[in-house]
Amino acid sequence: MATNLIQIANDSEIKARLEAERARLRKIAGLDPPRHFHRPVERAFTAEERGRVTILFGGFTWKHEDLIRAVFHGCGYRCEKLPVPDVPAFQIGKEFGNNGQCNPTYFTVGNLVQYLQLLEKQGLSRPEILNNYVFFTAGSCGPCRFGMYEAEYRFALKNAGFDGFRVLLFKDSDGIKAASGEPGLKFTVDFGFGMLNAMHLGDVINDLIYQIRPFEATLGATDRTFRETVDGLCEDLKNRKSFEIERRAPDWAKPKFKNNKILRYTFNALGKWHEHMWGKDYLNALATARRKLDSIEVDRTRVKPVVKITGEFWAQLTEGDGNFHMFEFLEREGAQVLVEPIATWVAYLMYQAKANTRAKWPVNRPHANPKWHEAKKHFANYIGLRKKLWGIGAGERMWNFFYHRTIKNLGGIGHHLVPQTELALLAHPFYNQFARGGEGHLEVGKNVYYTVHKRCHMVLALKPFGCMPSSQSDGVQSAVINKFRDMIFLPIETSGEGEVNAHSRVQMALGEAKVKAKTEFEHCLKSTGKTLLEIHGYVEEHPELKRPFYHVPHREGVAGTAAQFVMHVSDRINRDTRFWKRTRVAGVAIRAAAGD
Ligand code: SF4
Repeated sequence: MATNLIQIANDSEIKARLEAERARLRKIAGLDPPRHFHRPVERAFTAEERGRVTILFGGFTWKHEDLIRAVFHGCGYRCEKLPVPDVPAFQIGKEFGNNGQCNPTYFTVGNLVQYLQLLEKQGLSRPEILNNYVFFTAGSCGPCRFGMYEAEYRFALKNAGFDGFRVLLFKDSDGIKAASGEPGLKFTVDFGFGMLNAMHLGDVINDLIYQIRPFEATLGATDRTFRETVDGLCEDLKNRKSFEIERRAPDWAKPKFKNNKILRYTFNALGKWHEHMWGKDYLNALATARRKLDSIEVDRTRVKPVVKITGEFWAQLTEGDGNFHMFEFLEREGAQVLVEPIATWVAYLMYQAKANTRAKWPVNRPHANPKWHEAKKHFANYIGLRKKLWGIGAGERMWNFFYHRTIKNLGGIGHHLVPQTELALLAHPFYNQFARGGEGHLEVGKNVYYTVHKRCHMVLALKPFGCMPSSQSDGVQSAVINKFRDMIFLPIETSGEGEVNAHSRVQMALGEAKVKAKTEFEHCLKSTGKTLLEIHGYVEEHPELKRPFYHVPHREGVAGTAAQFVMHVSDRINRDTRFWKRTRVAGVAIRAAAGD
């Protein structure tokens, strides 16, 4: 039988043929000559461009964004916020981005491309857009897809025809001391403290809106008042005069500061810090805001289930299509939403930095295995670790202090930051705190925390479609639910579509939460021995109880606002003997008139 076997003489011929085939395939794949990947070198945003180039940013709530924009303006930058990402932006992200990204990537990347397309429609040419706009965003080294955002922005911009558009990064791993490396955007003391104030104000105001709006006596009053308040605070952040020691110092000291750079810098930094945190202008602006907000009339006797929002960073923050307008929907359905501040995330980063430093110290310490008598080396190991921990610890304390101070200055009813150590401890049996990515152990920790401390009636976790860390937490949450049987926990996967389905699932869980809230309220009211009519009567006579910043002390084990309120009013009635006597007389009179 005839065969077509190729005759190969020896091994070297096999090698030669393999090489030839490899070369052919590499040529087809465009790999010849080999090109290694290098991170694209971004065109610098220079100081001379500041007056012409507009910085774009987005991804927060409108309150954060307005305040951040005001700080940029106050520091002399041109700046604009992107609109809230919507479904068309998501579709643009899908069209121009890579396949298999997570939901926030599509929304945020598509949102930027959509905005640039809008600028083009308004008559700007592409070179004008490339030269006169830059985008400022957070970056990370991962491990989830957050690490790919920068590359994803560049890829989609290139595909959409905006190749060369500048993307400036603020890395979360660099924390608050990050520097862009671009001389056009300088992290000065004024800019840093302005941003700190803007972030804290944004968080606290966001928290207040969701605490007050469900109970507003006049529909729309909360939105209207908060809009005016945020505008007022923006004006303050924008127009605040920068502290300069050369101007403020007495005449005799001015030359000293002029000639000594270190002295000038030190006094300027301290003065600016004081001005931003304790300055008269800032405190006056906060006092005005507080008075304005306190004018909204509330009725806290409305029974509403408290829904704590957790989940992925962006999905739990955005107020648009990115999470199916979930907060608006929940309020429409009669719930009180408990939102998560960005400050928790920053506190988490610092807490993790401390825990990581401690865990890696046996490897990172300067002297690996000092002998027992080498006291100097032992000391160097000890003090090296302490120095790092003290540094981060000081940052943590300052962060918490300034956040809680903002709460105090804005009425004192905002929610305090949950202690990170407790969150890590509560999550630990289910989720190791060193498993990084996304919200890490926070989703599990918060779920347990709000349940065991009875701070809400239901936990709603908003997790984007395709989110790796959230899928991991979801798996773990089934074990958590098994342990805490009375927990109402609902994870919702947010994507560009499926809004009706998500809303209907939330409605079902909310039904249970409403029953829980109502039962709790009835139990609390019964325990006071008073009727709702009596409570209302007392509130009518004491208008301070209708003020949103009236402080209702928290009672352990009670989650609902209305339940807390009736118990507090009942305590006040018990102490108010005049009111007692009057109501008793009135009660006797009514019963007598009725022939009872
Ligand atoms: S946490 Fe999830 S949704 Fe957020 S960037 Fe990472 S993978 Fe995407």
